[in-house]
Amino acid sequence: MTRLWEPHAYSDAPRADCAWALEQDWPALDGDAETDVAVIGGGYTGLSAALHLAKEGTAVTVLEANAPGWGASGRNGGFCCLGGAKAPDAMLARRFGRDEADLWFEAQKRAIALVADLLTEHRIEAHTHSDGEVVLAHRPRVYQSFGAEAAWLEARGVGADVLPPDALAERGLAAQGIHGGLHVKIGFGLDPGAYAAGLARAARAAGADIRARSPVTAIRPEKGGHRLVTPGGTLRARRLLIATNGYSSEDLPPWLAGRTLPLQSSVIVTRPLSAAERAAQGWTSDLMAYDSRELLHYFRLMPDGRFLFGMRGGYRATPAAEARIARKIRADFAAMFPAWEGVEIAHEWSGLVNLSRGLTPFVGPVPRMDNAWIAMAYHGNGVAMASYSGALVASLIRGQAPTQPYPSVMQAPLGRFPLGRRRRALFTAATPLLWLRDRL
Ligand SMILES: Cc1cc2nc3c(=O)[nH]c(=O)nc-3n(C[C@H](O)[C@H](O)[C@H](O)COP(=O)(O)OP(=O)(O)OC[C@H]3O[C@@H](n4cnc5c(N)ncnc54)[C@H](O)[C@@H]3O)c2cc1C
Repeated sequence: MTRLWEPHAYSDAPRADCAWALEQDWPALDGDAETDVAVIGGGYTGLSAALHLAKEGTAVTVLEANAPGWGASGRNGGFCCLGGAKAPDAMLARRFGRDEADLWFEAQKRAIALVADLLTEHRIEAHTHSDGEVVLAHRPRVYQSFGAEAAWLEARGVGADVLPPDALAERGLAAQGIHGGLHVKIGFGLDPGAYAAGLARAARAAGADIRARSPVTAIRPEKGGHRLVTPGGTLRARRLLIATNGYSSEDLPPWLAGRTLPLQSSVIVTRPLSAAERAAQGWTSDLMAYDSRELLHYFRLMPDGRFLFGMRGGYRATPAAEARIARKIRADFAAMFPAWEGVEIAHEWSGLVNLSRGLTPFVGPVPRMDNAWIAMAYHGNGVAMASYSGALVASLIRGQAPTQPYPSVMQAPLGRFPLGRRRRALFTAATPLLWLRDRL
């Protein structure tokens, strides 16, 4: 396996202090086995695909290098919300046409509904809360744009309320340096680990075979399919799904080399805040929120009173770089929520999100490879979209026309980034520009 970041990023260390539980009690692949569909990667994408395939009676085995939900799926911020591409709507409309851009928006709405349905159908207790989410303007001119944004959302069937600056305190949404808000009435917060574990159990109950501690080290072509090599044994499969997202290897399959840009994201969670502490800051709402910066912060008060705060991660994946980002995230947290400066941080962790060159996700067949599909690149917004992409790719693998929207936005194969193995430098170079834009 050849990967883009330092080994630290792929070790247990960045998630050791994660707030979400990880169920480890899954068997590893032991010996040689055979299945119809092999899935590499046990996050939301792979687990949702396995669940939807197994439900339809397809034999499916998930090979996960660690445990289901070990990757971004078990260490995210828990925002089940719109998103999945980084390309803005106007760019998508230019590239794919207005209708396809609108279909992409419809897919995002359906993705949130899918997660809600999965939680209900499989009785997954994921501690949900929040009626939609709030965007907080970090500049007055951003607030000025919220009226048009609300109209755009309303035209597409999503309720949206503009919250003037003086309404924020009344709504229990008081943060420093904010100039108004936009309440987007779709989406909810959840416990990401509970959702990942529930999805894994649901897939197993439907008949999927889920194997942990089974890193795929090679994919060998074989007559009529593929042979996947793991330390404990091999798996022969007629069809293959690559669902490794930010934890992908450059050579699994070779086509993927240079086509993803994994970036770190970091999260802290406080101890439970008392009612008096919440009142002192003026943040009492259970609405999940993020600010309008390019280098954004995302945060939510959870049902048990703990406060989660996340932002982009560092340029390097080493203990020293993590220590630097730990200082930075505390400073940003204290700047936005001064009443909570110094409050005990009970958990902190980081993980890898994944960008594509076209700034859109890709769900489709792997070019130049028979009977292999791929679903990834949700640009840090995959709770809903990875779940949806898993369901979508399950239909494609079964050779069925998807019943859900499959916009061309999701069909453009991943392009190759410039700079090859050095492409992380693109992010390093872009960050000061984004930082400057946030301040102008
Ligand atoms: C800190 C952080 C905060 C985030 N916050 C949010 C949020 O609030 N809302 C939101 O929508 N999205 C959020 N995201 C993004 C979201 O978590 C991801 O988009 C989503 O979980 C991707 O799911 P996935 O299944 O595609 O990938 P992952 O969950 O990353 O799973 C990939 C899996 O593949 C496995 N794997 C890799 N290589 C191999 C191999 N060779 N063999 C076997 N297994 C392998 C890995 O071990 C891993 O478990 C966040 C991400 C991070 C890191």
